[in-house]
Amino acid sequence: MPSTPPPPAGGPPAPRRDDCPWCGSVRLRTRLRPHPRATPRTASAVDECRDCAHAFRNPPPVPEGPALPRPLPGTLPGPPPDRRRHRRHRLAAARALLPFPEPESWLDVGTGHARFPEAARDVFPYTAFDGLDPTPRVIAAREAGRIEEAHVGRLTDPRIEERLRGRYDVVSLFHHLGRTPDPREELRAALAVLRPGGHLVVEVPDPACAFGALLGPWWFPHSRIRQLHLLPLDNLCAELEARGCEIVSTDRRGAHVPYDLSAALALLLARALPAPLRPAGTPLVLAAAAVDHTLAPLLRRTRFSNAYRVVARKAPAGDGPPTGPWTGGP
Ligand SMILES: [Zn+2]
Repeated sequence: MPSTPPPPAGGPPAPRRDDCPWCGSVRLRTRLRPHPRATPRTASAVDECRDCAHAFRNPPPVPEGPALPRPLPGTLPGPPPDRRRHRRHRLAAARALLPFPEPESWLDVGTGHARFPEAARDVFPYTAFDGLDPTPRVIAAREAGRIEEAHVGRLTDPRIEERLRGRYDVVSLFHHLGRTPDPREELRAALAVLRPGGHLVVEVPDPACAFGALLGPWWFPHSRIRQLHLLPLDNLCAELEARGCEIVSTDRRGAHVPYDLSAALALLLARALPAPLRPAGTPLVLAAAAVDHTLAPLLRRTRFSNAYRVVARKAPAGDGPPTGPWTGGP
């Protein structure tokens, strides 16, 4: 079931779709209405499929030129950064691959400044990490020595896919899949650049997270117009299995990122306070961040865990269906 292609940058908004981009069902419900202050370019609802629970921005927002779309007007760019804890989270994600043979080559897709490869090298010091990102940040990351090869563009670009085909022992997509216009096509391309028997690691926000229902528009993944899709765990696993992969592990506890309350409060204050008064809200946001971190050990064991991680093994050579274009039905 093809996704709506992204509208051209600077062009008119794409039409709203009446069916689920994942399974084709027409039984949709509105999970979140567009923000009243959204511009025509960013006014998209979050719809959810009643049949497969896939959630998606409908219609997709129009990209603003080559740069990525910005958050909704009046929002802060995100929860306060906590570099030490981010690094711990990245190390934990890398350790999810420790039970398997040490990878020689690893591609991190949507790597940005390549902070994940930088941390993961402490776990896998002999692995060659490459990065792929649509922005030139990845070039700067290579110049800073955080990765060995930098690829600028999209994994689904046929030239990139052809160049990297079958090269990697591990391909990781951390909070990237839901930001691509067509997650199914992105998965196909990710498996194409993986060697037979290699491992795919995917981490995404969990649409079933109880914070989504509780916080509504203030839940961080809901507030990001770059978050085009929210994929249920079962759908992702079924898709990978249909492509011949074996699901090696799924993990909600380890993937939880403690930001829900502080991000919601930051968004709320950004909307409620005029710009000159916003710094006054910083202590409140920091206090909420402390609560997020205090509650994390408890929440990550419940439906409040806000993300999940899947590790899947691509079929060894000569085993399982090819990773060519999807031919199955909904
Ligand atoms: Zn569906």
